Amino acid sequence: MGEHKVTLIPGDGIGPEVARAARLCLEATGVKFQWDVKEAGQEALKNKGTPLPEDLLHSIRENGAALKGPVTTPVAGGFRSVNVGLRQRLDLYAGLRPAKTIPGVLSRYQNVDLVIMRENTEDVYAGIEFGLGEPEAQDLRAFIQEKRGRSLPEDSTISIKPISTRASERIVRFAFDYARQNHRHKVTAVHKANVMKATDGLFLNAARKVAEAYPDIEFEDRMIDDMCHQLVRRPEHYDVLVLPNLYGDIVSDLSAGLVGSLGLAYGANIGDDCAVFEAVHGTAPRYAGQNKVNPAALILSGVLLLRYLGEEEAAQRLQKAVYKVIAAGEKVTYDLKPSRDDPRAVGTQEMAQAIVDALEE
Ligand code: NAD
Repeated sequence: MGEHKVTLIPGDGIGPEVARAARLCLEATGVKFQWDVKEAGQEALKNKGTPLPEDLLHSIRENGAALKGPVTTPVAGGFRSVNVGLRQRLDLYAGLRPAKTIPGVLSRYQNVDLVIMRENTEDVYAGIEFGLGEPEAQDLRAFIQEKRGRSLPEDSTISIKPISTRASERIVRFAFDYARQNHRHKVTAVHKANVMKATDGLFLNAARKVAEAYPDIEFEDRMIDDMCHQLVRRPEHYDVLVLPNLYGDIVSDLSAGLVGSLGLAYGANIGDDCAVFEAVHGTAPRYAGQNKVNPAALILSGVLLLRYLGEEEAAQRLQKAVYKVIAAGEKVTYDLKPSRDDPRAVGTQEMAQAIVDALEE
């Protein structure tokens, strides 16, 4: 394969350090990259007046793929989350987050191998909210009273939860296609259709309909509350989970917790035309510039990037190298040591270098 042009967003806080580490490891696989470095978040706000500049969106659309460090969503200024904005503007409808036990990582569970597939574009994240005292909230309350005969308290706020057939079917189809391509055997759709009959009921029906086209893959559904209980009791019984946006957000963090450090949780946001690969963790401002945090989450996101680019062999080699360094437990960052103040913990770049060395062994 030739050279891959990929947008690189170093991001804020610890972002630039982990991005540098991930870049080092990705280049060490021998795959050729041409990085188109772009700002987002705090830096972009300072230099361009917006945390999500148009040239960044253009670059990702052009290149088809981006590797992204975490970014800060400025609290002031009325900006919505940069991450939510990025997913919506690029229609990155599938939030993919694997949660797999990594040998050598201290965690409560063993043999966890889950893939969380979160619908990224609608649900209560669509951003249709009516705040306290807004005249529109008043209008909406009057409308609900008139049409449904239900009165909502005057001091209430309202959030709209749109769930469409198109978005539900496409995320479930994505989950089944992923299952097929990755030799997975079961897809579980998660919902609360007994209470939210219109919205979650639609999601469940869409899932059942799509499942019929995949007779080779087992299908089941679970209520979100039962799912959380099941995941904590016996996560090894589950395989690919497909969920609407909010449940997906919560369950993907829960699943990251089942397998260990936040410094290892990785993922991707994928659409039909482009994809953004990023770690689950944020900018960890307390650690910024200290060469201290774990680079593995972004490096493992880079493994997903390699697969997306069709570089399967390099993806496997890099994943193996990361696992090897973690299993050896020597050249790892503080979060992977039995005690967080272990003086033998290495820095971000040193762990990345150990992964590069393991690639070459
Ligand atoms: P965070 O993930 O940044 O940090 C929480 C804690 O997790 C840290 O203090 C640290 O102890 C640990 N941690 C995080 N990354 C680690 C790593 N690589 N290695 C080892 N330990 C690690 O979460 P937060 O403090 O809630 O958020 C800080 C900022 O990040 C906020 O501005 C938030 O908006 C942003 N954020 C961005 C993204 C993203 O860009 N995808 C995601 C989450 C949060």
